[in-house]
Amino acid sequence: MIAVDEPRPVIDQAALIGRVIAACRDAIVEREADLCDLDRAIGDGDHGTNMRRGLDALAGETRQLAAMSLADAMTAAGTTLVMSIGGAAGPLYGTLLLELGSALRHTSSWPDALSQAVAAVARRGKSSAGEKTLLDVLYPVRDEMISHTPLRLLAQQVQGFAEMTIDMKAMRGRASFLGERSIGHMDPGAASCALLAAVICRELAEAGIE
Ligand code: ADP
Ligand code: MG
Repeated sequence: MIAVDEPRPVIDQAALIGRVIAACRDAIVEREADLCDLDRAIGDGDHGTNMRRGLDALAGETRQLAAMSLADAMTAAGTTLVMSIGGAAGPLYGTLLLELGSALRHTSSWPDALSQAVAAVARRGKSSAGEKTLLDVLYPVRDEMISHTPLRLLAQQVQGFAEMTIDMKAMRGRASFLGERSIGHMDPGAASCALLAAVICRELAEAGIE
């Protein structure tokens, strides 16, 4: 059979980085209060504020980030998130991006890079699946990426991953202090992670990336 090259979309990477950061920031600003409410129920109520600080910091660096290679932009953004989000979530989101940055230096496969980055987040948090954290969104997103689920479809699925944390008992972070009483509430980190994953998938799909 003759292989026919499919036409590939022409992607303006700098513009796309700018759009992704702006869309993520808008989404977090819109849901800041909801994320704080979720965290107030099983934590200390600052998750929305923490994420807002992180996305504001990223937005302030848009021009520099957009001028970098994808790997360098991930590394720089990860460093910014560690410093700006704070709390437990800062080092975890930071690790995700820092590790994506280093993975993208030796692979061009997003599923491989995400697998490596999610594993690093789990090591950093000393946590695993089912413990009611943002990993309960990251693991299924990684699995769907490995299965080549179209991004537009994945964008519709991620909220469901966060909802799965409602029935879980928190085993890590502040929420774990509540034990059984953490059951019945969505994990705030899972909520922010699903929100951001949906926004990113939508922006990439919009840009013609499958
Ligand atoms: P803090 O708990 O310091 O106030 P945030 O409220 O910003 O920080 O973030 C809380 C979120 O961080 C939780 O909802 C959970 O998803 C995530 N988290 C906390 N500890 C861990 C951990 N050890 N491993 C993975 N995720 C964690
Ligand atoms: Mg908190």
